Amino acid sequence: MPKKTIAALDPTGQAVLVRVDFNVPQDDSGAITDDRRIRMALPTIQSIIERGGKAILMSHLGRPGGNGFEAAFSLAPVAARLGELLGRPVQLATDTGGPDSQAKAAALPTGGVLVLENVRFNKGEKKGDDEAYVNGLASLADAYVNDAFGTCHRTEASMYAVPATMKQSGKPAVTGFLVEKEVRYLADAVAHPKRPFVAILGGKKVSDKIAVIENLLSICDHVLIGGAMAYTFSLAKGGKTGKSLVEPDKLELAASLLAKGGSKLVLPVDTHCADDFSATAAKQVVPAGQIPDGFEGLDIGPETASRYGAIIRSAGTVVWNGPMGVFELPPFDAGTKAVADAVADATAQGAVTIIGGGDSAAAVEQLGYAEKVSHVSTGGGASLEMLEGKSFASVALLDDA
Ligand code: AMP
Repeated sequence: MPKKTIAALDPTGQAVLVRVDFNVPQDDSGAITDDRRIRMALPTIQSIIERGGKAILMSHLGRPGGNGFEAAFSLAPVAARLGELLGRPVQLATDTGGPDSQAKAAALPTGGVLVLENVRFNKGEKKGDDEAYVNGLASLADAYVNDAFGTCHRTEASMYAVPATMKQSGKPAVTGFLVEKEVRYLADAVAHPKRPFVAILGGKKVSDKIAVIENLLSICDHVLIGGAMAYTFSLAKGGKTGKSLVEPDKLELAASLLAKGGSKLVLPVDTHCADDFSATAAKQVVPAGQIPDGFEGLDIGPETASRYGAIIRSAGTVVWNGPMGVFELPPFDAGTKAVADAVADATAQGAVTIIGGGDSAAAVEQLGYAEKVSHVSTGGGASLEMLEGKSFASVALLDDA
């Protein structure tokens, strides 16, 4: 069921409590090193203030102990950066729903923006059901917006109990633009794919992605495997994997996925390997399953890249999670680059192409393909859980469209 979005809410004269994901990376001095997460929330914030509403924003940042204020995890640098991006003053409350938040929210003018301190300074945030904490937040505003996709797989108080409480008193609870877009791609496009539906799965470990592989095997036409996880499958088939990263305790699981997947599960036919994890190491391309002793696989080989490219270019829908090799260390970025190139071509031919968050999103951005695909997800854990076919309680409770 599609959810009501912020676009369908009239915020004129209303205070709107927005759960955002401002969990930005910072250097040792506290300076923000990448403000992407703040910029991603701007459309929702602007939509509220430009239509005469007041925006009250709450987020977590890092992992404070939950015992009150800790300067290292303060949202003060985030509020300052948000003010620069919006080109207007942004206030900061020293608590989260407490007396300072109440006073500043009550005095907030139309078009005003207030950032509350880190929700995780309060024990009640993780606990989820601390009534005083939940009611303090729920009473701040007339409506609730969830625009924190990276946190949607969690049910912490600001994600679940606060909107549930606001709904009980008849207040609307809707999605922001970011969450709306993520759900549209990750849930809807995957539930109703244009075929052929091709999944590309890579990265380090099979064990991290068991549920994703199982779910995608049941709904995709082809599941292409790359990254180090391919070597555990190769070992399960009796191949030689040299000193590649493998999970010896997952061989049975790999064998059962191979049996379940049949011809849908496509493995590399060649491997680019090296005798050392460095740019100056001796390198060679070998057939899959024939990695010499002393060598480790670091990327799919050129024949695999070309076969995967052909399957991807004929796809109607593509989802991709996990790089094909150690893309951080050229020339072992070649396989990931070739796959990105094929995904870009598929997009240009009308396919819906979705890049899961985390390392695949980083790879696609680093290689310059972010604008050439339909959607790059902002959530690592959240996007994986969506591809596992899970639905999120934090989204399910929002008002239906
Ligand atoms: P994941 O977080 O599971 O998606 O894994 C991403 C990481 O897997 C990246 O840092 C890659 O460098 C790494 N990776 C991909 N292929 C290999 C490989 N063949 N050997 C070692 N690490 C790899």
